[in-house]
Amino acid sequence: MTQQAMTTEDGAIPCPFCGLGCDDLSLSGGSDEPRMEAGGCPKAQSGFSLAFGAAAATPAIAGRSCTLEEALDHAAGLLGGARLPLFGGLAGDLLDIQAAVRLAEATGGVVDHRNGAGLTAAATALQSGGLMTTSLGDARNRADLWILVGDVTQRFPRLVERLLEPSQRLHMEGMPEAVVLGEPAAEAPGAALEHLPVPAAALHDFIQRLRARLAGRGLDGEPEAATEALVQRLTNARFPVFVYAPGALGDQADLVIRALGGLVRTLNEAGRAALLPLGGGDGDISAHQVAAWHSGFGVGTSFHAGVPDYDPARWSTGRLLASGEADLLVWVSPLNAAPPPATPVPTLVFGHPASRFEEAPELFVPLAVPGVHRHGVVHRGDGPALVPLRALMASELPAGAEVFEGLAARLATEEQS
Ligand code: SF4
Repeated sequence: MTQQAMTTEDGAIPCPFCGLGCDDLSLSGGSDEPRMEAGGCPKAQSGFSLAFGAAAATPAIAGRSCTLEEALDHAAGLLGGARLPLFGGLAGDLLDIQAAVRLAEATGGVVDHRNGAGLTAAATALQSGGLMTTSLGDARNRADLWILVGDVTQRFPRLVERLLEPSQRLHMEGMPEAVVLGEPAAEAPGAALEHLPVPAAALHDFIQRLRARLAGRGLDGEPEAATEALVQRLTNARFPVFVYAPGALGDQADLVIRALGGLVRTLNEAGRAALLPLGGGDGDISAHQVAAWHSGFGVGTSFHAGVPDYDPARWSTGRLLASGEADLLVWVSPLNAAPPPATPVPTLVFGHPASRFEEAPELFVPLAVPGVHRHGVVHRGDGPALVPLRALMASELPAGAEVFEGLAARLATEEQS
């Protein structure tokens, strides 16, 4: 379906390419050669350029071009015969993911997100001890000390500009202090961040030591000067905020998030502190919210038994593909052109129109990119707040919801005949 194009001069443009949800971009140059005029970052520039340049992609079965109708007939045949289809990726907007989850339920499939491990770690930590969190707006207006845990400035390129150096802040005089806790990495543009190098494998231990010192307990061996200095700054701060991306914390994400939760609880005994977990984009927060609203559980849920079965370890993409339990991979990824995981399992890709594959999948259906080829809506990385997305150019690319509803209708007809 062709979307009505909106001119890029027509007001500020929201960006769908990471969880920060910036809505102040302006582009020029039209759809042939879009250029970021203001507000964007390199990630946004490459995201918009890639999507603008791929609006004419067509479906293909095993690498051979076909019509959308032929593609959907083929997909319906494979889905109808699948024992356990895995709906992975889920890197889309709310509308793409809602339709994909409905189709997964109708076909007795599993839903998991490409960032499922980080989402699961965050949910597990929340279930086990609770987490005291805040929002982007509250932290921007009130935090006087930011602790950036791990790789957040690379994942959210405008984090420093939008949160630490905003033109206006409520309730605060002067700029907040910011300390990066993690592996040495390229500094964020325009920011004078202090850096405390802590290897990823040592983050959990370091946070536990901080907590012990804040609680007045001694440590084995001589306390390190850097640790003691940070303890002092946390004690003196009016509102320290710890920001992290669960998906960037690797294998120890669950442990690190629990340790941060404990540290914040300790700080709140005498003052005020909070966590600010940020979803890494690719629609991961939307996927988690949609799955929760649909079934009562997050991603990592199977509908195979006719009722939702939430078990993120059992229903993870990696395990299901490695074990061969899933016999069909339905890869949904209109926001991200990266290919699906390599697997001998037949793969149906409903994805970004600029997707490139080393080996052609069983089926490729290019979808409209929300926020470029069609209107849409995606969750911001800090939780339930929604970012409305705009169509920026005319496009014949189908929306994910249109395609998945078409598939569901075909399957229902086959069942009745
Ligand atoms: S920081 Fe994220 S949301 Fe903001 S412009 Fe860059 S990619 Fe887009």
